[in-house]
This record gives sequence, structure tokens and C-alpha cells, in this order.
Amino acid sequence: MALEDLYREVILDHYRSPRNRQALDRANAVADGNNPLCGDEVRIELLIEGDQVTAIGVTGHGCSISQASGSMMGDAVKGRTIETIRTLTGRFKGMMSIDGANDPGLDPNRPGAVLGDLESLQGVRKFPVRIKCANLPWTTLEEAINGFVSRAC
Ligand code: ZN
Repeated sequence: MALEDLYREVILDHYRSPRNRQALDRANAVADGNNPLCGDEVRIELLIEGDQVTAIGVTGHGCSISQASGSMMGDAVKGRTIETIRTLTGRFKGMMSIDGANDPGLDPNRPGAVLGDLESLQGVRKFPVRIKCANLPWTTLEEAINGFVSRAC
């Protein structure tokens, strides 16, 4: 199977069976994001305990890219520290930049350093209008975390 087809399968699988698609009973960080160009909407709910995201809910609706990205993101950040999540966010957005050259890199031995299924979205950067779709859940996640951090200080 060509890599591109494999990537498409992974994206469709997350779109059809989204992970972490739940409203949290107990959330202490929430943000809503939308991408008017495509009509994508995403709501991120987090339970942050100590410096760790212990639960995440990703709900919303929109195109396969935005929803699959949110599903994969939930898996990637759950149980991670805020610091690791910030690094992952930088790494993902770097991968999604048009030439991929902004990837800051990451020590592969560090826990949580692996983008995993998220790598399947890298083909999207060939379609600049869809990059916003892929980044939407991440931008919304950053907003939720920043809101939490600013309240905690
Ligand atoms: Zn979209």
C-alpha cells in the first residue's frame, strides 16, 4: 500500500471512530475554536491536575481533516504534561508548515515525543487551505491551556 493511501486510511479511521469524543463531567479548561473557511468547529475540554492533562474531551463537527486531527491530538496529549504538550504542538504545527522546515525537532527518547498517527496528516500541507483545518484543534488546545495557566498564576 502506498504511504499516501495508508495515511488516508488512518485519517478516515479517526474521522469515522473519533477518540476522546466526550464532554467531561469535570473540566477546568475549555476553549472553542472554529474555522469559518471550512465550517469546522471544535470544543476542547481538559482536566488539568498538577501540570498534567489527565482527561480530554474533543467534540465538534466539520471536515474529516479537522475532526481526525482532533481525535489524534486527544490520544497524543492525554496524560502528558503541559510542557510536553507545548512541545508537541510546536512539532505538529512545524510539520504542517508548507515546507515542513519549521519542525523544531524533538528528542525521540523523550516520553510523548512521538506524533504517531498525527504523521498521517503531513500530506495535508500540500493543500494550504486545509492546513487551517488540521491546526484548528491544536490552536484551540493552546487557548484552553493558556487560559488555565493565566488563571493559575
Ligand atoms: Zn476543514
